[in-house]
Amino acid sequence: MTVGVAYFGNRILRHAAADMADAAERGFTGVLHTFSEHDLAHYRQQMARIIAASHDVGLQVQLSPWGLGHVFGGEADSRWVADNPRQCQVLGGTTPVSAACPSNPGFRDFVRAWADAAVDAGADRIFWDEPAWARPETVGLPAHAAACGCASCRAAFAHRFAASMPARLTDEVAAFRRTVLTEFIQELVAHVAARGVASTVCLLPPVGDDGADDAPGVGDWAAIAATPGVDALATAPYWKVFDQPPAQFVGAAAARVRDAAHAHGARAQLWQQGFGFGPDELPDFRTAVRAGRDAGVDELWVWGYEAGGHMSSLGTREPEVVWEAVCDAVTR
Ligand SMILES: [Zn+2]
Repeated sequence: MTVGVAYFGNRILRHAAADMADAAERGFTGVLHTFSEHDLAHYRQQMARIIAASHDVGLQVQLSPWGLGHVFGGEADSRWVADNPRQCQVLGGTTPVSAACPSNPGFRDFVRAWADAAVDAGADRIFWDEPAWARPETVGLPAHAAACGCASCRAAFAHRFAASMPARLTDEVAAFRRTVLTEFIQELVAHVAARGVASTVCLLPPVGDDGADDAPGVGDWAAIAATPGVDALATAPYWKVFDQPPAQFVGAAAARVRDAAHAHGARAQLWQQGFGFGPDELPDFRTAVRAGRDAGVDELWVWGYEAGGHMSSLGTREPEVVWEAVCDAVTR
């Protein structure tokens, strides 16, 4: 089984190399390096060195577009959004938000250029992390305002439905959003596949009473799993983040990713929340790991190295204690 860990927050090579050796010694076989817009602008060659150091100790490397355009998951901020305010999403008909629009050709060009840099840096797989539409709650709008009315979306919607785009979330708009995101990811997967690099696509976990509330995301797991060039389908059911019971929530997400991936010959990759709690919640963590293992996934990954104790906003308590327990549960 592939067992991996996410690594972020350090670009000093000798420290990264020592940490990669430590991860390998602890039993990890893969590492995910975040590769943000900031990294692309300022650490491009250094990332290649850090990836090489990871390979030197036998780790397989995934690279993620951390926070890119605020369309992909991750805490990193987006300068692209600040520099391109007229190419971002427009919610509720009139409200611009700090998220690029996946319909926008300029943003698509930017992500392809990022992908080229990720391939050049030596990634084994590109990890397309939780592509999603902006949430209207972040700008104080109601849920039905989740229809992007930017020029690109209006043109694409009119082309597809021969009608002007509603300013609210109708069934047609919901279908349009899923289609745009799915085709956006499929285009990116094909782009890196043409350069000989495989993809992992990580989709938002199903949350909610009916287990289907992944509305801002891709939705159609089968379409992604069946895409040529997708090596692994992934999901990250972080029980504490989503305030869900670990056994049921992680078990259901693991079963869903397993079924969707295996039906199309892809690997099932499950992420575990290894941050944001303290030693008193380790029983919940172990329950979550067991639920993932029992579901029969192919890859178990954890976010992140040293329980993310160096990143204040993740809120891990006594990270040294948590990390030892995380390693014990995940790599044994
Ligand atoms: Zn749009």
